[in-house]
Amino acid sequence: MNIAELDSDALLIALRRVLAAKGIASEEEITERIAITDAASPAGGARMVAKAWMDEDYRELMLTDGARAAETLGIPMRGMPPLGVLENTTEVHHLVVCTLCSCYPRAVLGYPPFWFKSVSYRARAVRDPRGVLLEWGTDLPEQVTLRVVDSTADYRWMVLPMRPDGTEGWSEERLASIIREGDMIGVTVPQAG
Ligand code: FE
Repeated sequence: MNIAELDSDALLIALRRVLAAKGIASEEEITERIAITDAASPAGGARMVAKAWMDEDYRELMLTDGARAAETLGIPMRGMPPLGVLENTTEVHHLVVCTLCSCYPRAVLGYPPFWFKSVSYRARAVRDPRGVLLEWGTDLPEQVTLRVVDSTADYRWMVLPMRPDGTEGWSEERLASIIREGDMIGVTVPQAG
């Protein structure tokens, strides 16, 4: 272990002590939150999307109160920032970025993918979002409005993508199986297969 690593470990321990001493977050709460985040994955968000495609009431709940919609499916949201859900339609497509750092709805999507945190994605998602989508193989029709949304420490966003053609009559589980992380960030759109 080099000096820099020792310093960051000492800093982390000191910070956790201060947070506990000030009653902001106990050691137990921090440990619990790390365990919950470690267990989270895009499969959680995919279950929400699939349910929204099947169940109109759930879709409405998801769009008005994302955190409650997540909790309905057993995804713990305690202590997390509010979750906003943006619906893609034939008229508007949403793309999520954190221009500042890596704010991400970890409770429902797990840890952010490496590219989400990269300087180039954070800059180009704003400067040239259509170009970024093209690189992902997403050729957005010109008449579709593209809205780039900034995730922050106070509000995390995920995308409710459109259900693809060719999935009529599918079960919720089968629908959930085709929904990828990128579909819920907005770089890609779900494919029937
Ligand atoms: Fe951030």
